[in-house]
Amino acid sequence: MSHCIFCSIIDRKIPAHIVFENDDVIAILDITQSTIGHTLVIPKTHYENFLVTPLNIVHKVITIAQSIAQRQMTVFSAKGVNTLMNSYHAAGQTVMHFHIHLIPRYDEHDQIRIEINKHDALSQLNLHDIAVKLRIVE
Ligand code: 5GP
Ligand code: ZN
Repeated sequence: MSHCIFCSIIDRKIPAHIVFENDDVIAILDITQSTIGHTLVIPKTHYENFLVTPLNIVHKVITIAQSIAQRQMTVFSAKGVNTLMNSYHAAGQTVMHFHIHLIPRYDEHDQIRIEINKHDALSQLNLHDIAVKLRIVE
């Protein structure tokens, strides 16, 4: 897709530090290293984000993501890994080509903040009604 930074990297139009590559998936170091080893795992075919990516492609991407996260733990002696997917601008997505962030964590007192905030007002909501709306019946 034109003007997509990740498609340009896949097409070798702009450089990146490649961690892994096969016919379907590429993994590169994030240009902004949130922590040492911060990696993006990306399908070579352009899909906007996780929500619209075919499951067989998601499976290929997440399989590589798990292997690289395991290597982050062993090679860099990370103590944990955050595995993130942002879908659409409201969720913080800035590059509109599906990718999984792998962010190794080395110190529970580091300056990285990935928080799920609790809002008192929302805790008053009727969780039963919300669950009923979301429920998937197979
Ligand atoms: P998002 O906010 O969409 O979940 O994450 C996009 C990520 O892509 C950001 O963490 C950003 O640093 C990274 N990024 C943006 N442009 C480039 C680039 O040209 N090369 C690499 N390697 N990473 C990039
Ligand atoms: Zn793309």
